[in-house]
Amino acid sequence: MFGTGTARPCKENAGRASNSARMRIIEVVLVEVSGEFAVEGPFSEERRVDPLDVYREFNRSFSPYRPEPGARARHRDLFLEIRTDEGVTGLFGPVDGPHATIVPREMRGLLIGRDPLAIEAIWDVLLRRDRHARGGYYMMAMSAVDCALWDLKGKALGLPVYRLLGGPVQEPVRAYASMLGFSIEPEALARRAREHQALGYHAQKWFFRHGPADGGEGASRNVAMVRAAREAVGDDAALMFDAFNSWDVPYAVDIGRRIAGYRPAWLEEPVPCDRIEALRAIRERAGVPIATGEHLYSRWQVRDLLDAEAVDVIQADPDWCGGITELLKIATVCSAYGVPLCPHGHSLHAALHVAAALPATVLPQVEFLILHQPHKQRFMRGDLQPEGGVLRPPEAPGLGIELDEAKIDERREIC
Ligand SMILES: [Mg+2]
Repeated sequence: MFGTGTARPCKENAGRASNSARMRIIEVVLVEVSGEFAVEGPFSEERRVDPLDVYREFNRSFSPYRPEPGARARHRDLFLEIRTDEGVTGLFGPVDGPHATIVPREMRGLLIGRDPLAIEAIWDVLLRRDRHARGGYYMMAMSAVDCALWDLKGKALGLPVYRLLGGPVQEPVRAYASMLGFSIEPEALARRAREHQALGYHAQKWFFRHGPADGGEGASRNVAMVRAAREAVGDDAALMFDAFNSWDVPYAVDIGRRIAGYRPAWLEEPVPCDRIEALRAIRERAGVPIATGEHLYSRWQVRDLLDAEAVDVIQADPDWCGGITELLKIATVCSAYGVPLCPHGHSLHAALHVAAALPATVLPQVEFLILHQPHKQRFMRGDLQPEGGVLRPPEAPGLGIELDEAKIDERREIC
């Protein structure tokens, strides 16, 4: 969808900067890059449960794509680039298409001519610009702008973002292994769980495959998954389990009670995060800790959950919740309530810089999606990958996201 009907020549506003001595934004561009890559093994062996599974037409078995040897596939990603009259740029991505296009279409005119280092001012202007800005795609687009501005600020001042934020505090940052896409057949699961424990991960998260529409057999398979994971990693490792908004209260209470003996560190998103009373009911009746937040936007939504004592862990994602600027405020709110913030891992760089700048008592770990992260980083130079279950943020100025031209066949700009 992106680029159709909204594309404009990218040099239209170049040179519009004011005469002030301050740096000015002169262009805001979505950079679409594409390239061909070798396909290595199945991207996904199993899918997670989905809210649409309550409808039979969507609740189908999953057939993993198994490529032929030597197969290659074409990929493309979008990155947001903010350019200034001093030649310093901010880069962030990959940004998902549906909200990426909001940036050039709705926000570009507000950004050009502004001081890119005045991030708080820009955040507030963008929020006040649209009466629906408080969540959804608009806030996700704001998040991309915010993260790109922090990258720009780091490059302008010659410091990695975590140092701009007051770090280092945590060196290194603990990552948990997020096992989305791996088979949940008990034998395969146990092998993968032990492999990743041996790699040094202190914790793992596994994803339920079944929901209320799958009846008692599906519920038993969910419980069997938890049992297999616990038996594989032993008593001391942390295990988390994710239901991706796909359950209801009675189902979540039932499964929660059945898995409580396996001591999950949390049960994630049993219902959507705006159903505060339902989350509180599950938390009170199931007897397991509840996590949510990857689909929350801003400090105000987080505070409502905390006020209601509905959750044990907040998982706001800087790619979506309002950017690095807002994740810091969310961390402050969480710390006031004594609830840990464990950022969701849509991408990695922004969350990692924030983590490195906060105490582990406030932000104890970040999520690392084992199968998905290599794809998110496919056009980048370098490889941000845990070693021994821990991560260190890049030391380059900014966020440390750099496109690798050797991996890019085609590039076009959308303004
Ligand atoms: Mg999740």
